[in-house]
Amino acid sequence: MIRTPEALLQALGLPEQLLPAARQGHQLFPVRVTQAFLNRIRPGDLNDPLLRQVLPLTNETEPSPPGFCKDPLAEEHAIASPGLLHKYTSRVLTVSTSACAIHCRYCFRRHFPYAEQRQSQDDFAQKLDYIRQNPAVNEVILSGGDPLMLPDAQLRRQMEALATLPQIRTVRIHTRLPVVLPERITDALLDALECFPRQRVLVIHCNHPQELDADVVKALARLRPLTTLLNQTVLLRGVNDTAETLIQLSQTLFECDVLPYYLHQMDPVEATHHFAIADARAVEIHRELTRSLPGYLVPRLVREEAGAPSKTLLISS
Ligand code: SF4
Repeated sequence: MIRTPEALLQALGLPEQLLPAARQGHQLFPVRVTQAFLNRIRPGDLNDPLLRQVLPLTNETEPSPPGFCKDPLAEEHAIASPGLLHKYTSRVLTVSTSACAIHCRYCFRRHFPYAEQRQSQDDFAQKLDYIRQNPAVNEVILSGGDPLMLPDAQLRRQMEALATLPQIRTVRIHTRLPVVLPERITDALLDALECFPRQRVLVIHCNHPQELDADVVKALARLRPLTTLLNQTVLLRGVNDTAETLIQLSQTLFECDVLPYYLHQMDPVEATHHFAIADARAVEIHRELTRSLPGYLVPRLVREEAGAPSKTLLISS
């Protein structure tokens, strides 16, 4: 695990001139990169699409343009119970942990007040009570941070507890770990997931085909018999903002039985504006995907908007 900008630059043979800016970004949101992800970055290439997701750049410390803020999705207003967000009628999202194996510079929760939510992180019972009192809720999303950072025993307890609620038809897990830490997909983890006996959906987060190496393919193959596999991608300038890259991503995901689900316009989070893409360009890229891929491999181009009853489609077909 790389935990400092110095170690990241050294491991990849990148010039020391990058260090002052990287240190500044590190103060805002610490550098964290798994060895598995590091192995897929081309040494010495500052334009590597994986490197750009994890290396703090000067731009992070620049004042953000209008519209960028710490909580653009107003998630603090959606906190229904400690560690539980209720944005959409039928789904609740549990902030299971603040931990992630990798720190993505564009992260929409980089400013989330995890410390305030920590008080009852272990008190899953309180979340279950809230769900019971809201019978319209039929799906629980485990998010974070990354929920697969939880110890197996804790994850197992949560899945067992959710299984006791007949109203819950689906448990969905949003995780980047099969991609950035494929060795996390162990027998014990698979056993824990099976403790919820109804519909299981696992939404991975992969932005570029270079993230999908042989170890990730193996990890996904182990998950496939247990769960529906979907992917969400964030559209990021300098990382994946070409149709060619996203076409290759969809095709490679499909070879792993993962369906492309969402292509997100990035949330306007403070210190991330250098990744933003204009809507017109996003739509142009998406039109090219639609022309080149079968419909089932075209992710929906969406934006999340504070207070909206669902994600907003930027293009309807
Ligand atoms: S894995 Fe997800 S939650 Fe964690 S830093 Fe990356 S984008 Fe944020």
